[in-house]
Amino acid sequence: MELTPESAWDQCLEIIRDNVPRQSFKTWFEPLKPLRLEEEDGVRKLTVQLPSQFYYEWLEEHYFALVRKTVTKVLGPQGRLFYDIVIEKESTDGYEGASMHVPASRPSVDVDYEPTGVAAQQQPFYAPPGGTAVGGAHPFAIPGIRKPQVDSQLNPSYVFDRFIEGDCNRLARSASWAIAQQPGATSFNPFLIYGGVGLGKTHLIQAIGNYVKQHRRAETVLYVSSERFTTEFVQAIQHNRVSEFSLFYREIDLLIVDDIQFFGGKEKTQEEFFHVFNSLHQAGKQIVLSADRPPREIKGIEERLLSRFQWGLTADVQQPELETRIAILQRKAEDDGIEFDPSIIDFIAHNIKSNIRELEGALIRLLAHATLHNREIDMPLAREVLRDLIKEGRVNLSIEEIQRITCEYFGIPDDLVRAKTRKREVVQARQVAMYFCKEFTQHSLKTIGLHFGGRDHSTVIHGIQSVENQAETDSGFADRLAEIRRKLELHSR
Ligand code: ADP
Ligand code: MG
Repeated sequence: MELTPESAWDQCLEIIRDNVPRQSFKTWFEPLKPLRLEEEDGVRKLTVQLPSQFYYEWLEEHYFALVRKTVTKVLGPQGRLFYDIVIEKESTDGYEGASMHVPASRPSVDVDYEPTGVAAQQQPFYAPPGGTAVGGAHPFAIPGIRKPQVDSQLNPSYVFDRFIEGDCNRLARSASWAIAQQPGATSFNPFLIYGGVGLGKTHLIQAIGNYVKQHRRAETVLYVSSERFTTEFVQAIQHNRVSEFSLFYREIDLLIVDDIQFFGGKEKTQEEFFHVFNSLHQAGKQIVLSADRPPREIKGIEERLLSRFQWGLTADVQQPELETRIAILQRKAEDDGIEFDPSIIDFIAHNIKSNIRELEGALIRLLAHATLHNREIDMPLAREVLRDLIKEGRVNLSIEEIQRITCEYFGIPDDLVRAKTRKREVVQARQVAMYFCKEFTQHSLKTIGLHFGGRDHSTVIHGIQSVENQAETDSGFADRLAEIRRKLELHSR
């Protein structure tokens, strides 16, 4: 079937969707529009439209490897993606557009991490196209003469330099660092990190890999999830290639296996892994593992494997403390060259506690909204955009509490906001309280109105609008709003 710009881009999106978190997909990929698909001197060019320069930089910084591989996959080796950056600015007489046409993907950077959807359709590690990965390592060949060329599957952005240390991860980080200096030569072999999702396990174990790869070029590093290990092993059995599979793994100098809880209950795979483990360990090769819980709590792991894990070091990662959360956010913002008001960082760090991936997600979402809607990153935007993320973490204020705190600020008895009076200072307190009810509660405008002496929802809309208008034109009033908001926040924790 003939490809159109839309169908080509749709196919790309399908692959991308499988390779990035849902939120990032919505933020960074959904807003892009396919424009043209052209062929020139055998090169197939797909052009998509981006809303801003910032998008371009973000995509290049974070997703160029994925984008490049995806486009090659969909359009073939001669496929290229181009971005049209169209900046739409609202002006009094319509839109003022500025536009720029740029190619995607900096060609100079070495890409060596595989997006999963693409990798899934590729050859297994032990049998890459064009020959055997284990090179001269046939059982009867002289070992060590030809090193295998292994794609280490590392994400180049997971490095120590970008990993923030805190009490929550100190042991895991220092052990990782020590191992990276001397893989296989410390007593931390195997090294296993365990802990809940989004706490930096994958980042740390890959940081070891990236470091070793950079400083010891002769050594073969492989990062593999336990799922991929399992799938490839099963396929190897089906295709009668188990010995190739085994040989491949025995050639690795630093083997990193992520999320080993998936080995639970898979006896055959565990047996194979057990042999790989023994053979590497005996040869002084480093083994690094991660799991989502202490190994003893993983169901269906054989005792002999568990006892092997005890030979080395097991370290956990915990939920980050407030200071670490702040440091991580500051660092991420810095890395992306964005300046955030400290109060925004503080707000996110106070409200998102459980997991670093969510912390990052919040920041990205905020940035994206600001760019998309051409708005400043300020507290109202942060509150609005992150509302559903922080909902669970905070105690909701009731409408009555909001009325009480607001009236206290204005120095009037709080039953007046529910009464019929139209005195100026009461009207103002009433409207401000309505405004904050919308911001701080999940109630409908109708319900809010009912709590203000049975007023209807259009009165609430009018009230909220008056507050917004006044805040825009009167900075003294905006300051007073901010002050009330701080008081409410104190109560909402
Ligand atoms: P896990 O494997 O434990 O589920 P990840 O390693 O995938 O968690 O981490 C989730 C995200 O949070 C990644 O983008 C990672 O870079 C980031 N992250 C985790 N811990 C830290 C940290 N200490 N400093 C900076 N970024 C971190
Ligand atoms: Mg992980």
